[in-house]
Amino acid sequence: MSQTGSGEDVRLAEGIDHQVAMVMDLNKCIGCQTCTIACKTNWTDGGGREYMYWNNVETKPGSGYPRDWEEMGGGWDEEGQERTPGDLPESEDYGRPWEFNHEQVMYEGSDEPLRPMDQADWGPNWDEDEGAGEYPNSYYFYLPRICNHCTHPSCVEACPRSALYKREEDGIVLVDQDRCRGYRYCVEGCPYKKVYYNAMKKTSEKCIFCYPRIEGEGPEGEVMAPSCAEDCPPQLRMVGYLDDEEGPIHKLVNEYEVAVRLHPEYRTEPNVYYIPPFAPPQHSESGESVEAERIPRNYLEELFGPAVNEALNTIERERARVERGEESEVMEMLTTTDTADQYRLEVFDE
Ligand code: SF4
Ligand code: SF4
Repeated sequence: MSQTGSGEDVRLAEGIDHQVAMVMDLNKCIGCQTCTIACKTNWTDGGGREYMYWNNVETKPGSGYPRDWEEMGGGWDEEGQERTPGDLPESEDYGRPWEFNHEQVMYEGSDEPLRPMDQADWGPNWDEDEGAGEYPNSYYFYLPRICNHCTHPSCVEACPRSALYKREEDGIVLVDQDRCRGYRYCVEGCPYKKVYYNAMKKTSEKCIFCYPRIEGEGPEGEVMAPSCAEDCPPQLRMVGYLDDEEGPIHKLVNEYEVAVRLHPEYRTEPNVYYIPPFAPPQHSESGESVEAERIPRNYLEELFGPAVNEALNTIERERARVERGEESEVMEMLTTTDTADQYRLEVFDE
C-alpha cells in the first residue's frame, strides 16, 4: 500500500513503486478499431501473430474475443490466494485470419464483392453491433480490451519458469522471450485471455503497454502514451500512474471511484479501469420515454461488479451539477481534450 495525501490507499504490487494504469471512458468509444489496427501494425503484424489482437474491441453483450472468454475460468479464488483452473482457448475461438479475394477484385476484373475466400464462420468482432434487447429498446456498447497489467497477475504465478514478470519501475507485465518455453500455462491462467501463444516462435506473447514509447523512445526521443491511446479518435483513454495524486487516473479511480474494474471477481486486480456506459432510457413504440434503464443494471454489475452502481450514481450527480452551471472536477477530467491532462507519464522521471 502507499498512503496518498488525500487519505486513500492505493494498493501497488509488492516491490512496485509506481503502477502505470489506464482509464477508458466507454461512453466515447465508437467501435472504429483504430486502436486495434494501431496496435497490430506496431506489434503483431506477422510471424505467427496474425491471429493475435493484443488490443481488441468487442461489442457487449456479445461473445468477445476469444469467443466466450468470460466462461473460460482462470484468476484467483475468493480469498485471492489459490489460482483457479482456466481453459486454453481453441484456435477456432480466436478465429482464423481469412484470405480475401483482393487479387481477383483489384487486378483480375472480377465483379464479385470483396469477401473472405474460405468459409468464414467466426472471427474477432464477428458479432459486432448485435447487442441484445428487443426493438425499440435494443442496446449495445463497445468494450476495448488490452492486458490489464494486473496488480496480482495470475499469468505470472502460472508460469513454472518465471518467464512472465511484473517489472519494478511501472508494474508492466512482460514475457521474457528467452525464458519462455511455450507451455501456455499463462494463457490458461489469465481470466481475460490476454496472453497469446505464437505457434511459429513457440513462445507466449502479450501487450507490452507500448513500454518503449513510455520510456521515451518515440521518434524525437519523447515520452509517448501507448499507441492505442494516442491514436484513438475520440481520445477516450487516459494514461498515467495510479499513485500520481494530481493525475486523473488516481482521482477517477481512488478519489471519486467512478472508474471501475472489469470482472473484479477474477481477483487479479486489473490496472485498466472503465467509466461505465450510460444510455438513454427505454422508450415506447411511439417514442415516449419509459422509466426503465436501457442497459440492464444487472448486466453492468455482471461485467464491472457492484461498484458500478455507485460509479453511475456519482457521474449522474456530477452531470447534474454541470447542468446547474456548477463546477465538476469529474466532468472536467472526462471531457478534457488537453493531452497534457490525459497522459501524465513524466511525473516520476528522475
Ligand atoms: S490481464 Fe491477464 S495477462 Fe494481463 S496481467 Fe492480468 S492476468 Fe496477466
Ligand atoms: S480507437 Fe478509440 S473509439 Fe476507436 S475502437 Fe478504439 S477505443 Fe474505441
